[in-house]
Amino acid sequence: MEYVKIAGTEINSSRIGLGTWAMGGWLWGGSDRKECVKTIYKAFDSGVNLIDTAPIYGFGVSEEIVGEAVSQSGMRDELVIATKAGLEWERGGVFRNSLPERIHKEIDDSLRRLRTDWVDIYQIHWPDPLTPVEETAETMVELIESGKIRAVGVSNYSVEQMKIFHSVCHLNSSQPPYNLFERKIEGDVFPWCEEQGITMLLYGVLCRGLLGGKLNADSEFPGDDIRSFDPKFQKPVYYNYLRAVEELEQIASQRFGKNVLELSVRWVLDKCRKDITLWGARRPGQLDNVKGTLGWTIDGDSMIEIDTILNTFVADPIGPEFMAPGPRPL
Ligand code: NAP
Repeated sequence: MEYVKIAGTEINSSRIGLGTWAMGGWLWGGSDRKECVKTIYKAFDSGVNLIDTAPIYGFGVSEEIVGEAVSQSGMRDELVIATKAGLEWERGGVFRNSLPERIHKEIDDSLRRLRTDWVDIYQIHWPDPLTPVEETAETMVELIESGKIRAVGVSNYSVEQMKIFHSVCHLNSSQPPYNLFERKIEGDVFPWCEEQGITMLLYGVLCRGLLGGKLNADSEFPGDDIRSFDPKFQKPVYYNYLRAVEELEQIASQRFGKNVLELSVRWVLDKCRKDITLWGARRPGQLDNVKGTLGWTIDGDSMIEIDTILNTFVADPIGPEFMAPGPRPL
């Protein structure tokens, strides 16, 4: 495993982190708790020590599963738990809420569910348009001073919002979407974080499974699965993405003896050399590929060829904006 320090801290994190959104079941058609716990242990066995979760993932379920696995592992001190705050779900919908009282309540709820006395990286999940950024940042300073959290992050923030936040509370990390298909941050968030020395936790490395290499035109997404309404998974656009995946699979196998999943994870690791990529998994076997992503790099010519494939088949990529929660009702 490759490791990196979270900027401005002594926290040593694996460059692949385990994403646990699907473990909560919500928007992923359910999940199996025992399999999830086994997946977390498989991650630890693979050298992964960062787990990313959030209260909203299954409305507490994901954090509870992480808490169960971590407390039974006896490894708490070696692990990096990243969780989030700033989304409420108690009023019949999911809304942004980063008011100080909300965050103070959320940290205590998260510590209880996670069965720990501290959170290593505490992130504001989505910017709240109804709460001044400065007020949210001041609340995070209070949490650092209280010892409940060790590092501060934001997620889905623009550069402008991060600049304001950073002027009040030192930002250690930022969590934006980034994968072969979703590259908007290359124009703003990525260079700014690099310049400021802020660690990125990049989410959606497999683009909700598209880059896992196992989906096809007949794949179904039953129940509340987010892909049933993700615009990328709607035909005919979906066919273009699948064509690109086929081509990428060719490069992966012919040039590197790898599969498209391993190429996709390596691509993010190579693009963002000081950062962390989050890999969403809920079954242990899904992490068998971790070793296949390590110990090699993608050369410049292959990087150019990958860009050509993307420009040919997905010239106008669809972003993850569709999943942004709205502001809370007043
Ligand atoms: P992801 O990691 O891009 O993809 C997860 C998908 O990949 C699932 O559909 C899974 O399949 C599939 N997959 C995993 N391992 C595979 C394997 N070995 N072979 C084939 N397919 C495989 O998506 P994500 O979960 O959305 O993102 C990762 C993490 O980032 C989340 O869990 C969460 O921690 C974080 N995140 C944060 C935000 C935010 O707003 N801050 C937003 C999204 C995600 P199955 O469906 O079969 O399990």
